[in-house]
Amino acid sequence: MAAAASAARRVPGPEMAAAQRVVAELREACAAGEMEGGLAVEGGGTMKMIVSYVDSLPNGGEEGLFYALDLGGTNFRVLRVRLAGGEKERVAERVVRRGVMIPPGLMSGDGATSERLFGFIASALAEFVAEEEGGLGSGAGGGCRRELGFTFSFPVHQTSIASGTLIRWTKAFAVDDAVGEDVVAALQVAMSRRGLDMRVAALINDTVGTLAAGSYYDEDVVAAVILGTGTNAAYVEDAAAIAKLPTGPSSTMVINTEWGSFAAPCLPLTEFDEALDAESLNPGEQTFEKLISGMYLGEIVRRVLLKISSRCSSLLGGDGELATPFVLTTPDVSAMHHDETPDLSVVGETLSHRVGISGTSLETRRVVVEVCDVVATRAARLAAAGIVGILRKVGRCVVPGDGRRSVVAVDGGLFEHYGKFRRCMESAVRELVGEEAAERVFVKLASDGSGLGAALVAAAHSQSR
Ligand code: ADP
Repeated sequence: MAAAASAARRVPGPEMAAAQRVVAELREACAAGEMEGGLAVEGGGTMKMIVSYVDSLPNGGEEGLFYALDLGGTNFRVLRVRLAGGEKERVAERVVRRGVMIPPGLMSGDGATSERLFGFIASALAEFVAEEEGGLGSGAGGGCRRELGFTFSFPVHQTSIASGTLIRWTKAFAVDDAVGEDVVAALQVAMSRRGLDMRVAALINDTVGTLAAGSYYDEDVVAAVILGTGTNAAYVEDAAAIAKLPTGPSSTMVINTEWGSFAAPCLPLTEFDEALDAESLNPGEQTFEKLISGMYLGEIVRRVLLKISSRCSSLLGGDGELATPFVLTTPDVSAMHHDETPDLSVVGETLSHRVGISGTSLETRRVVVEVCDVVATRAARLAAAGIVGILRKVGRCVVPGDGRRSVVAVDGGLFEHYGKFRRCMESAVRELVGEEAAERVFVKLASDGSGLGAALVAAAHSQSR
């Protein structure tokens, strides 16, 4: 036990007080420097602060039949919605096909080309449309051309509501020839090759979609955050505060922050983060994402356990598969962290089945749970700091007595399914905004909003309007 306890103490990670200082610093950096820099000029800060061209959010009056395609992680969803334009039954019909897996060979490696990736997506979309409409030729909405909202959750330099060039891939994607390409044009070509008569009416990302869908149902939604495989945030900005935006008629503009790329000296990077970054598909990029998103938490825990094993060989009784990158996933971490069995049997089984380490003692399992706790707590508190940074940037929770409700819509499997992460993040938001403001700040789960949001933004930019 002594060895186990000392191994636990040696696990690098922020102590609570240090974490609080870091989140406070991060909040300051977010509000004062990085966000302002990105709004002033392209490349003015580590956060891209992308102008989304969504200058008004849906208000519930939208009507018609719309499709949406949501690509952001290892799988994508297609969606068809009929918007009723009424007060009560706003979405009259919604058909979703979730979880179409993208073959790994199309996401990275020699065979991964833009043509093949968009071809695969367009084929799945055409199949969905044919199933829903009984064939591709029939069109939608009384002979009008079908319209699609395309949620594409990677950094894009948006040039209009329905065009944008890919800046770089994130998460598990590395399709080199698509970088610098207009992703709407690529999808449009792939769709027409498959005989699918459909116009991309809006290009947004999942965060903007979640914001659009959130504010469709609750007008006090001021920001949206994604915490899934990757992470990002979007919020409604005063157009006058966006120096890089040419003056126009809009008074507000949705900004896609791309906060996954946030980097600042205050971030609590450890040797594990540095090694993870160096060996990643995108070294030096997406620093914030690598600290907090679902793609990486399991991998950070794996690296910590490997080091513990190398320092204290009797603790785990060998490395098993621990040297294999990504052998532990974030759902594994979540399952171990939530293990309430007296002998931590879930931890034991996960180590045995996932990592090939069996026969672990209760003390060892406790150390593993503690590692999961440190890694998840750090991530949750950093995510909370980012949220509070945005709230402060738009003047929420700043003036005492400001009676407005502020709702942050959050989507993503990490937030939805990892209860301890979610509760820790929510309590850190309350702690950071202070007791009084905490009464009016709501962090709300907004599942699957990004697809609906794309359909809503497509409706707002429909040619048939
Ligand atoms: P994506 O972000 O890939 O589009 P999701 O929003 O569904 O899709 O998020 C999936 C991610 O959420 C997974 O990659 C994983 O990291 C995380 N996740 C899913 N289930 C759990 C869970 N039970 N516990 C912790 N994290 C989870």
